[in-house]
Amino acid sequence: MDFGLEPDQAEFLEGVRRFLDERFPGSAETAPLGTSDRSSPNSFYSYEHTRELNESLGFTEHLRQRGLLGVGWPREYGGGGRTAVEQWLFLEEMAHRRLPTFGLTFTSVGPTLMRIGTEEQRRTYLPAILRGELEFGLGYTEPGAGTDLAAIATTAVRDGDDYVITGQKQFTTAAHYATHMWLAARTGPPESRHRGLSLFIVPMDTPGIAVRPLQTQADLRTNEVFYDGVRVPAANLVGEENGGWRVMMMALDFERIHPYAGLLRDFEDLVGWAREAPAGDGVVLDDPVVRQTLARLAADLEIARLLTMRTAVLIDEGAVPNAEAAMAKVWISELRKRVASQGLGIVGEAGQQRVRTPGAPAGGSLEELFRYFPVLTFGAGNNEVLKNVIAQRGLGLPRE
Ligand SMILES: Cc1cc2nc3c(=O)[nH]c(=O)nc-3n(C[C@H](O)[C@H](O)[C@H](O)COP(=O)(O)OP(=O)(O)OC[C@H]3O[C@@H](n4cnc5c(N)ncnc54)[C@H](O)[C@@H]3O)c2cc1C
Repeated sequence: MDFGLEPDQAEFLEGVRRFLDERFPGSAETAPLGTSDRSSPNSFYSYEHTRELNESLGFTEHLRQRGLLGVGWPREYGGGGRTAVEQWLFLEEMAHRRLPTFGLTFTSVGPTLMRIGTEEQRRTYLPAILRGELEFGLGYTEPGAGTDLAAIATTAVRDGDDYVITGQKQFTTAAHYATHMWLAARTGPPESRHRGLSLFIVPMDTPGIAVRPLQTQADLRTNEVFYDGVRVPAANLVGEENGGWRVMMMALDFERIHPYAGLLRDFEDLVGWAREAPAGDGVVLDDPVVRQTLARLAADLEIARLLTMRTAVLIDEGAVPNAEAAMAKVWISELRKRVASQGLGIVGEAGQQRVRTPGAPAGGSLEELFRYFPVLTFGAGNNEVLKNVIAQRGLGLPRE
């Protein structure tokens, strides 16, 4: 079996690399990193960082002109009409260079709208996403509904041509900069569980929405959001009334396909540091225990690459990866933990220095990764539940 790229894929990737080399040489690592209200744990990929790169370099516009934004989206909605594998290659290359990868608006909301949205919704939202005009927040979690999303209590009540939304959401990470919310609410009776949920697109400038910050140990800002009689047109319902579970699960499947290349870059920076950092009469990499640890992580990263590439291949075949997306998410979130904790074990005390501290080992990214990795083990579905998805839907094993 050949795990390499097809000639046209390799040629596409070469073109992307040439373009990025010419247009943004080393820029991501020297641009400012933004405020403590960052929307992403890894400062390099945050929304604020993208905004700063846009202001200083016209970043998104250059990519759009080159046809790279939405490179795997259909041409009729402003995309490049290429394959999901090529889009994956592009995003991985961006992450590897510590350039922004455009977040879940692009990788979760967009692909779900393409499949489930009405033609009007697709024509309204997809080209605007690619023009960089729209940013969605994901409004699933509530104080009483996290892993168990079927317990969502926020209600949406039909009133003429509108729905009126009332309730509280928690951990809505993008709420403080999103233009729109991708919001799950109950349209069925209270006991209807997953059969009584619907998915709405809610413009964030609608009266009745209040956003309150929640700060996390990873320096990441997330939010509580209060909806008090928020009125949205019925045309903003995605899918059918009471059919929101399917919409949400598809969006979560797309969310679970984590680009791993940012992690590969953290690892490569660690290896680069170990090759240079003095230890005894030589360098850190001379230590056989260090070499064994790094070799194991290198093999695990290759597995991550293949798991994520498989999800892209499945999308090109017309499927929505489910157990396969769960496998990629479980593996990569747990691998993040190993890279962060074993990497910091190798680096020692100096690893406490933060990103961009001059002289910080491996650029300080391991310190940041260490504070953030736990979120990825339960965000987008906790790993315990996703292991059940792999067992039941992937392996056909009976329910517990
Ligand atoms: C920084 C951050 C950003 C977030 N961003 C967003 C966002 O933008 N939008 C959004 O909607 N949500 C977001 N979330 C919410 C996140 O998806 C939830 O935290 C997650 O779904 C878990 O829900 P919970 O916190 O209520 O934990 P709980 O559901 O209470 O689960 C806690 C733990 O209990 C265990 N557990 C629970 N149920 C089971 C089960 N059935 N089987 C086995 N073990 C189980 C697991 O170990 C789990 O990790 C974010 C959370 C954080 C911390």
